[in-house]
Amino acid sequence: MLIYNTASRAREELTPVRPGKICMYVCGVTVYDLCHIGHARSALVFDVLVRHLRRKGLDVTMVRNFTDVDDKIINRANRENRDWKEVAETYIRAFHEDMDALGILRASVEPRATEHMQDIMDMCAELIRQDKAYATPSGDVYFRVRSFPEYGKLSHRRLEDMRAGARIAPGEEKQDPMDFALWKAAKPGEPYWESPWGKGRPGWHIECSAMSRPWLPLDIHGGGMDLIFPHHENEIAQTEACCHCELAKIWMHNAFVQINSEKMSKSLGNFKTIRDILASWLPETLRYFLLSKHYRSPVDFTPEGMDDAERALIRVYECLAQARAGLERAKWKRSPLPEEIASEWAELGKTFDEAMEDDLNTAMALGHVFSMVRIANRVLEDKTLRASEATRDLLQELLRRMDGVSEELGLFGQDPATFLEDMRACRCRRMNIDVARVEELLAQRAEARAAKDFAASDALRDELASMRVEVRDTPQGQTWELIVS
Ligand SMILES: [Zn+2]
Repeated sequence: MLIYNTASRAREELTPVRPGKICMYVCGVTVYDLCHIGHARSALVFDVLVRHLRRKGLDVTMVRNFTDVDDKIINRANRENRDWKEVAETYIRAFHEDMDALGILRASVEPRATEHMQDIMDMCAELIRQDKAYATPSGDVYFRVRSFPEYGKLSHRRLEDMRAGARIAPGEEKQDPMDFALWKAAKPGEPYWESPWGKGRPGWHIECSAMSRPWLPLDIHGGGMDLIFPHHENEIAQTEACCHCELAKIWMHNAFVQINSEKMSKSLGNFKTIRDILASWLPETLRYFLLSKHYRSPVDFTPEGMDDAERALIRVYECLAQARAGLERAKWKRSPLPEEIASEWAELGKTFDEAMEDDLNTAMALGHVFSMVRIANRVLEDKTLRASEATRDLLQELLRRMDGVSEELGLFGQDPATFLEDMRACRCRRMNIDVARVEELLAQRAEARAAKDFAASDALRDELASMRVEVRDTPQGQTWELIVS
C-alpha cells in the first residue's frame, strides 16, 4: 500500500516495522468540548485505514490518546464551577458516544495524559540528563531546540527562519526563543503533580512522546494537518533526542473541513458539532459525505453536499434491495451477459482495492462502487438479461463485494429496507413532515379506493402531494415517497 508521507512529501510503500503488524498512533482530542466535524473527519480517515489494513490480514494496533489535563479544560471547569476531572470525563464520554454513532471503531489503546505522569516526568528527566532540556528557577522545563539539528524536518522549515520571527515573551525564562515547554510550573489554584522541578503539569507535546514510547518506531503517526507544526515537529524532537530512535516511519495528515467555504471557528459562529449534524442527517450520510473526498483534499460542508450524499446512499441501497429481490427468482435461463458488461464487471473486482491501496483513495473507491451499481441496475432493468444465470452470478457477486466494501468503509452494510425506512423518517423530520398524519391520510385513501370513491381518493392524493408526499399504487398496496427537489 502507498501512503503519502508528510515528512518525505512523497507516496511511500507501507512496510511494517514488525512483520505482519502495524502500529499507528493518532493524536486524539483535548476533552473540553463536544467534537466537531473536523474531529469526525480525522477519526474517520484513520478508522478506514485501520479497517483496510485489518482486511488485508495485518494485526493493527491503533493508539489514540486523550489530553485530559490542559488550560482549556481547567478554564471550562472554573467557568462552570466544576471539577476539571469531571469536565474531562464528560467529554471523553461524549467523544465515545459521537464516534460510536458514526461507526468509528474504538482504538486498541486509549492512553490518557493523567495516567502517564511518571512516564512524562521520566522523559523530561532523561532529556535534562542529556543536556537537551533544562529546568528554570521557577520550575518550568524547556526543550533545547538547538540540541536537535534536524528540527523542522517534518514541516520543512528552517530553524534559522523560524528563530528570526520568534521572541521570548516577558516573564519567560527560555534560553532561546525557539525552545518549548516540556513541563510547566503550576499557577495557584491549578491542578498539579509533584515533580523533581516542583509542583507542575506537562506541556501538551511531551504527552504524546511519552505515550507513544512503548511502540517505537511507529509504522504510522497520524493526525490533522494543523498538528504538523508545532505539535508533531516537537514530538519528533523530544522522542528522537531522548530515545535515539525514529518516532514514525510514515507521517499521515488529513486536510480540514470548511463550512460553506469558510474556515470553521467559534468566533464566526459556523461551528458544527457532530451532534448538530446528526440532528438533521443520518450518521451514514456524514460518513459517506466525508469519505467522498480524498483525505488530503479539503472538504466543504454544505447542506446541499449532504443532500447529494443522501441521494447517493439511497441509490446504492435501492440497488441492493433490488438485487436481493432479483435473486429470489426461482427460474434462471442459461444465457451469457454481453461481452462489454462482463469485462467491465470483471475489471471492477480489482479496482476498488487498487484505489484503497493508492493512498487510501476513498473517493475513487466509491466511484467504483457506483460503477458496480450502474451495471447491476442495467442487468436488473433489462428484461432479456434479468433472468439469466449470468445475472444471478453477477448479483451474488455484487452482494459479496459490497460486504467487503462495507467492512472497509463502514458504508452500505445495513439491511436495505431498514436503511431506506430510516432515511425516509430522517428526511421527514428535516422537512417537517408529520409521518403520523401521512399514514392517516393514506389509510383514508385506501378506504376511499376500496369504496370506489375515486373523487375522495384523488383529493387525498392531492393533499398528500401538497405535503410533498407522492403516493404510488402497487400490487401490494399503497407506498409513498418524498418529493425531494
Ligand atoms: Zn499528539
